[in-house]
Amino acid sequence: MSNNGHKIELPTTIVVRDLAQKIEKSPIELIKKLMTNGVMATINQTVDFDTAAIVVAEYGFEAVPEAVEETVQEEVGEVPLWRQMIAGEDKSQLKPRPPVVTILGHVDHGKTSLLDAIRSTDVAAGEAGGITQHIGAYQVEMKGRLITFLDTPGHAAFTQMRARGAQGADIVVLVVAADDGVMPQTKEAIAHAKAARVPILVALNKVDKPNANPERVKQQLAEQELVPDDWGGSTMVVPVSAKQKKGIDDLLEGILLVADSSDIKANPGGKVIGTVIEAELDKSKGVMATLLVQNGTLESGDVIVAGTAHGKLRAITDYKGKPIKKAGPSTPVAVMGLSDVPSAGDLFEVVASEKEARNIVAERLEVLKTQAQSRKKLSLEDLFSKVQAGEAKELNLIVKADVQGSLDPIITELNKLGQGEIGLKVLHAETGNIGNNDVMLATASKAILIGFNVQADVDARRMAEKEGVDIRLYEIIYRMTEDIEKALNGMLEPDLKEKTLGRAQVLQVFTASKFGRVAGCKVTDGELKRGAKVRLYRGTDIIYEGDLSSLRHEKDDVKEIRQGYECGVGFKNFSDIQPGDSLVCYILE
Ligand code: GDP
Repeated sequence: MSNNGHKIELPTTIVVRDLAQKIEKSPIELIKKLMTNGVMATINQTVDFDTAAIVVAEYGFEAVPEAVEETVQEEVGEVPLWRQMIAGEDKSQLKPRPPVVTILGHVDHGKTSLLDAIRSTDVAAGEAGGITQHIGAYQVEMKGRLITFLDTPGHAAFTQMRARGAQGADIVVLVVAADDGVMPQTKEAIAHAKAARVPILVALNKVDKPNANPERVKQQLAEQELVPDDWGGSTMVVPVSAKQKKGIDDLLEGILLVADSSDIKANPGGKVIGTVIEAELDKSKGVMATLLVQNGTLESGDVIVAGTAHGKLRAITDYKGKPIKKAGPSTPVAVMGLSDVPSAGDLFEVVASEKEARNIVAERLEVLKTQAQSRKKLSLEDLFSKVQAGEAKELNLIVKADVQGSLDPIITELNKLGQGEIGLKVLHAETGNIGNNDVMLATASKAILIGFNVQADVDARRMAEKEGVDIRLYEIIYRMTEDIEKALNGMLEPDLKEKTLGRAQVLQVFTASKFGRVAGCKVTDGELKRGAKVRLYRGTDIIYEGDLSSLRHEKDDVKEIRQGYECGVGFKNFSDIQPGDSLVCYILE
């Protein structure tokens, strides 16, 4: 069959695997074809439309750009609540709002300097004597349009917000120092922005430095799938010098261009919702919070609920400290009057009365309590069952290894494994121990953390425990791939170890009306626990393995019993007990 002239719709970028599927070729064949065209891509990498068009042409297809009228968000779970709420607003009431921008990048690449430089270009603020206070966000005007900047540099805050599903930015400005290039935190920032589906604009900073090498940085960016626009890609790269305050206007104009190609809207007359940017307890003023209004118009006197804090807003001030009566979408405001300190990233909403606010908070506290009790680990096993249930299409992984030399083969192996029905996506790979940032990224992107010949920091472990992130440490690549392969095939045994609690000797057997046959035992070491696992031995043969369902001391039901004591033990669904049997009580952990 000839495909000549066969039209095929392609998006602006496409993952190699999906492209192969579209043209019904094997991914391997496609990768080879890409290679013969000088493009080195793995199955999980994306290629742009032009590259895809050339390759599919070799199979007789004519590529046409995909229609993009309907930008349906595929993964509803990933869309922050406020976006979902805006999406639910009456379309005819939606009005453009200022873009909300966050600045990310490697340490020392100039995030703070850039935020200061942008801030100081704002004439209005200058007239008011300069913005001296930092409330975590500010706005500047460019060509009569406002841009809102989140002034909490460092990706920790950003991740924290994302981790709570309340990420508030529309655009990420990625600062990369022209003399240093793409560094680990740059990659991390890219991973965050991609996972959050927020467009990235690059500020190529420190171009004033004699050793600045913009071309090298562009090359590195392209390797991160951020192909600069002057190289035919779609990532805007704006050269700036935060120190000399050069290129700032270009950057702001670039932001407006990116904003114009995104649908940044809200309903000023709709339900008032937004995100908490910062909050703290001031000794004299009480709780001070910075809120970013995302939909509706916040007014002084409104009653709000933010996370588990609530209150009637006494005073609203703008980012310059000027009292205001109202704040529309994308406006950052400082407020007083909350009962409690909310967390950065908490969603807030206006409610009808203080009574309603109190009820909502009471309900939330109740939910939090039960959640804490039943928080399940986001383990490889769980993820797999999600994948099977169709809730997830791929396993996200974050890989840390001791040296670059081991990272490369690991990624190669993982890419091989990800060629089946379920994809594997390495969101981030880096050398070094597993730290807090890795756990945050894993939480935010529902990923598993894989460590190879590295340790997890104590803090990171604690946080992983709290957030329910699965950390898996390996020393042999084969063991790692084996585990992941098993998980992909749904055969992974839970990673449980047996811990012996105690042993006992069966002295006699009696029948109790309530429990059936019961073993009269003496605990020879450790302790026995009701509800734990038990294994019954006759000589060296195991004759029963199951649950220790009842435990009595004299006439009383007990939870546990220690060495030296006598007790009655009942086994779940088992009664063939004999004097002389011995038992081991253990738990799985
Ligand atoms: P951050 O850690 O990303 O917030 O980086 P900072 O804004 O604190 O900047 C780190 C260092 O780089 C400081 O010493 C700045 O003065 C310097 N720096 C920032 N921007 C520029 C720039 O455009 N040119 C030069 N030469 N130095 C800069």
